[in-house]
Amino acid sequence: MAGVAEEFGRLYGYEPEGVWEAPGRVNLIGEHTDYNDGFVMPFALPHTAVAAFGRRTDTAVRAHSADLPGEPVVVADPAPGASAGWADYVASVVWALRDAGHAVGGVDVHLASTVPTGAGLSSSAALEVVVALALNDLFELGLERQQLASLCQRAENDYVGAPTGIMDQTASACCTAGHALFLDTRDLSQRQVPFDLASLGLRLLVVDTQVKHSHSEGEYGKRRAGCEAGAAELGVSALRDVPFASLPESLDRLSCDEIRGLVRHIVTENHRVERVISLLDAGDVRAIGPVLVEGHASLRDDFRVSCPELDLVVDSAVAAGALGARMTGGGFGGSAIVLVEEPSSDQVAKSVVEAFASHGLTEPRVFTAVPAAGARRVR
Ligand code: ADP
Ligand code: MG
Repeated sequence: MAGVAEEFGRLYGYEPEGVWEAPGRVNLIGEHTDYNDGFVMPFALPHTAVAAFGRRTDTAVRAHSADLPGEPVVVADPAPGASAGWADYVASVVWALRDAGHAVGGVDVHLASTVPTGAGLSSSAALEVVVALALNDLFELGLERQQLASLCQRAENDYVGAPTGIMDQTASACCTAGHALFLDTRDLSQRQVPFDLASLGLRLLVVDTQVKHSHSEGEYGKRRAGCEAGAAELGVSALRDVPFASLPESLDRLSCDEIRGLVRHIVTENHRVERVISLLDAGDVRAIGPVLVEGHASLRDDFRVSCPELDLVVDSAVAAGALGARMTGGGFGGSAIVLVEEPSSDQVAKSVVEAFASHGLTEPRVFTAVPAAGARRVR
């Protein structure tokens, strides 16, 4: 953190006004539901984007990342269409705040992030949220965290051009240490659900397959459009409104198997989030394992966003005795989560790594995820 402030000084020739930090996230359950007005349950990772800021006297944005080579990128007039590569994730937030009528001047930014990029752990939301929180403080905007998250989503949708839902930004802005965040993406109501695995002798492993599928964005858009088509065929404003109890009749009314699969995933996934919430509330944490495995099968077979590497993590982890596992994030690569008994944790991780080796695949990165704090000012 001190490093980011010092590097800011070297780059820009003056001291930053402050340093802010925002985490990446994993999603425990509730995948692809956040653009269907459904339920999600992410928690924040200890991996964060840390950024130093200083206000400018003009309206430009100057951004530098310690994680990429090159000079600071200057965006003179942030507006959709003016692509500046990675710096879009910074400039877009400035634009979204200004477009919403907030008086935000220019800024210089230097950042460094420990959130792996493109690993399904939301390095993009960490960047957006650290910028939004800093601007909120520096320009005294007085916005709530959920409002900041919604503006970050708008930035990613309308400026960066990624049609993501509201989960990632809300998780980065609103999560608290030791909890998973139950979020209803329709009315944005939230509940912090205690999720302290260590005290129960459990662990949640994150396995980053290091697979990045280049077609993921187009496929994401297709799934989103397919969900909207399904909702239109059923005469509801979003798939959230299809009751689990009437799923068989609803499926009968759909025009094709592809849409049937999408609808079945969203409806059963919302139901799975509710089941996980009930189990956590009842203190029956081990029982969520099979629900995670069911969720993975649904993403693989019905929503069709998994890939062989993610399936291999889940299959090899469960075969090695994990309580449950599933892909997390948008899919087509990225990461999976694995719920394990603490004593068997190393053995399960080893089995997954060996399975990758025996298939001739790049060794996955495995780490233990402990629910961490949401975005904050650090100095
Ligand atoms: P994810 O959010 O799953 O990590 P995305 O494709 O949504 O994947 O976002 C990754 C992009 O965010 C990167 O390609 C880059 O443009 C930007 N990004 C993330 N972290 C950094 C960083 N530390 N420095 C510069 N750009 C970053
Ligand atoms: Mg992202």
